[in-house]
Amino acid sequence: MKIAVYIGTKGAETEPRLVGMLRSLTEGGCECYVAEDEVLPGTDMVLSIGGDGTFLSVSKLVSDSGIPVVGVNMGRLGFLSENRPEDVAQALLGGEYAIEDRTLLCAVSVDTDGRRGEEVFALNEITVHRSGAAVLGVDVCIDGKELPTYWADGLIVSTSSGSTAYSLSVGGPIVLPQSRVLLVSPIAPHNLNVRPLVVPDSAEIRLRMQSRDGKYIFTADNVTHECPEDTAIEVALAHFSLRRVRLNKSDFINALTEKLFWGEDVRNIK
Ligand code: NAP
Repeated sequence: MKIAVYIGTKGAETEPRLVGMLRSLTEGGCECYVAEDEVLPGTDMVLSIGGDGTFLSVSKLVSDSGIPVVGVNMGRLGFLSENRPEDVAQALLGGEYAIEDRTLLCAVSVDTDGRRGEEVFALNEITVHRSGAAVLGVDVCIDGKELPTYWADGLIVSTSSGSTAYSLSVGGPIVLPQSRVLLVSPIAPHNLNVRPLVVPDSAEIRLRMQSRDGKYIFTADNVTHECPEDTAIEVALAHFSLRRVRLNKSDFINALTEKLFWGEDVRNIK
């Protein structure tokens, strides 16, 4: 098996646990190489070494190639990058894993003449955000149906994978990764009665902005763009998914309890 190793955590290459993992993989017959900004032809798997932020960068690197990605966490447990280096070699060599598809979003800007910008892809979320001090108006249209205008700092369209990221910080629900839904959530809405909206992942979402400074910020995971106010953003499911390796022993609910301290309460201490 040919394995690309993408190291997002500075100095991790000399970490004994990482060195040990790579030695075991090589002794088990794998050919490992360090990938920086490209994945070589014939690569069977990519190891993302770092946190969830690193995993997002690797998702951009593999793009629509279909190469499966394994998240290896060197520090705190992650949601996308959840495996300890000491667990990875044995699981990969012994076939003790499954490959799951994680949906991605595709967003395109559309100007007033109908000219479409470049497609951008996101594993966690697409956001629009105010670029100045004034509140942003966001008009959302889902499958041709207009919602009331959101007056807010911005708006998040999140995948299930992104439900534990930015969406969580604005009160969005936690979504089990296999759920086929998208979340539409305003960021700091100036309103008492707005709630995050769950929509099917087949939804076609169009965002139009009203901005007093004539522009707004548009993000796809960790990538930022600036747009003129009269440019709309269209969001829909991407035509490809990210293939993520899930080791048999990994568990989403464990990650919730260990990373987000779900259920931590002095009354639960036995
Ligand atoms: P960052 O600002 O350096 O880190 C953002 C944090 O989000 C990190 O702790 C990262 O975990 C965590 N994270 C990323 N994806 C996650 C996921 N799917 N589930 C749970 N936690 C996740 O930026 P970054 O590392 O480049 O990541 C970009 C992401 O930051 C965006 O996609 C957005 O979701 C998130 N973000 C959150 C807020 C907020 O919560 N207020 C604001 C802006 C952006 P690691 O420490 O494991 O890398």
